[in-house]
Parts: sequence; C-alpha cells; structure tokens
Amino acid sequence: MSRKPLIAGNWKMNMTPAESVVLSQGISNRYSRGWNKVDVVLCPPTIDLRSVYTVLDFDKSNIDVGAQNCHWEPSGAYTGETSIPMLQDVGANWCIVGHSERREYFGETDSMVNKKVRALAEAGLNAIVCVGESLAVRDAGEASRFVCDQVRAALAGLDAAEAAFATIAYEPIWAIGTGRTATPEQAEEIAAAIRATVADLVGEQAASAMRVLYGGSMKPANADGFLECPDIDGGLIGGASLKVEDFTALVEIAAKHAE
Ligand code: PEP
Repeated sequence: MSRKPLIAGNWKMNMTPAESVVLSQGISNRYSRGWNKVDVVLCPPTIDLRSVYTVLDFDKSNIDVGAQNCHWEPSGAYTGETSIPMLQDVGANWCIVGHSERREYFGETDSMVNKKVRALAEAGLNAIVCVGESLAVRDAGEASRFVCDQVRAALAGLDAAEAAFATIAYEPIWAIGTGRTATPEQAEEIAAAIRATVADLVGEQAASAMRVLYGGSMKPANADGFLECPDIDGGLIGGASLKVEDFTALVEIAAKHAE
C-alpha cells in the first residue's frame, strides 16, 4: 500500500505567539503545488495554536495544526492541562503523544499515553505517538523489543478503526536534539518491527495503512536516506522545524519521494 508522507514540526517550547505568526506565515508562503503530495502538520506550543491556525486558515493552505500534548479527560480539576475539546476549538486536529521529553521530564507513562491515544481517537483527532529507546537499551540489544512494547502499550484496547487515527513516530532518544541520527538501516529495522507489531494488534490492513515516521535530528542533508526506506513514511522534526528554509526543504524532499 502506498502511504502519503507526513512531515510534522514539533516546535517544543519555542516561539511566542507573535513569533509563531511569523514562522507559520513563512512556511505557508512557501506552500507549493507539490505539497499536496505530503501531509504537513505544525505543532506549536499550546498558547500559539490559535494564531498559527488563523494564519493557515487565512491562507487556505492544507497545512494542519497539532498540539504537543493533551489531557484525556474532556474537562475537570486538572490545573495546567488542556483538554481535547479545547484543542479542537482552536483548530488543532493532531496531537503529539508520549514524546520522550514528556516521558522523561513530566512522568508520562505508557498507561497515560494509552489514555490519550484512546481519547484522541474517540474525538476524531490524529495522534502522533512517539516511541524510542535510550542508548543504554540500544547498547543492550533491546531496542526493538523495548519500542514494540511501547507500541503495544500505546495502542492497547484500540480496534482497527480507532488505530487509524494513530501515526507512530520512532524517535531514538539518543538522536533527539543531539545532531546524532540513527542510520537509515537502524531506523528501517525498527519501523518494520513497529509495523509488524501493529499488524499483530489490529491486523495487516490497518498496519499497512498506518504511517511510521522517523524523528531524531532529521534535516534536509540526511532526510533522503530515511524517506527512501520502505517502512518510513515521513518525519517528526524538532530543531529543523524552527527554520523556514529547512522545514520547507524537508517537505519538498518528502514530496519528491511521494512521486
Ligand atoms: C523531536 O523532538 O521530536 C525531534 C525529532 O527533535 P530533533 O529533530 O531536534 O532531534
């Protein structure tokens, strides 16, 4: 099955609302016809979602907006959290879940990731579910087992229709923001194992339709190697998503691979 590539930008905790208007406008200005071969999602900080959505909506671009986190309950006494209905209200139709920084610094567990993925599917939002091993796990030869266990936990209890709202991003922790990338061979090996795990959970058809992304210091200079891999369908981009030139170059490269 041919899957449409997806390039998603994770801005992390960067860009004020005013700066987010400039960056999203810069990206939108470069929008070209070839881009409809690629799904493009910008994931700014929560406070920027409305401004970024407004820019993209005004430009009538096909670029989508995503959050970097959500709570699984629709409302309630959860100080500091943002619900899925709130995200929908400001135009987000994607949400990153289980990023390694949230797991490491904010104690996000596999069970919380699963609750978020289920709540997003129920609301009809797309989840970008991040999985990835530490260097210690890789060095112990356990990368594939560890990552596939994370996938099983994240998708637990979902049927094929619900799993269709999920995209898996394989992000080896040792490659995030470090300038050190996995090799395309290492990334493909894990992406294929992820797809086999998804097939085991929700069936071959759902697995062959599901997009698996690579993330970890992806930039225009190294993107070709990853996007050529049969089980890698795009990228989750951190640092390079903050630069108009780099991010738009990555979308162009993905469009070329979609041809
Ligand atoms: C990320 O944080 O999801 C990421 C891939 O970051 P970077 O591209 O900066 O490694």
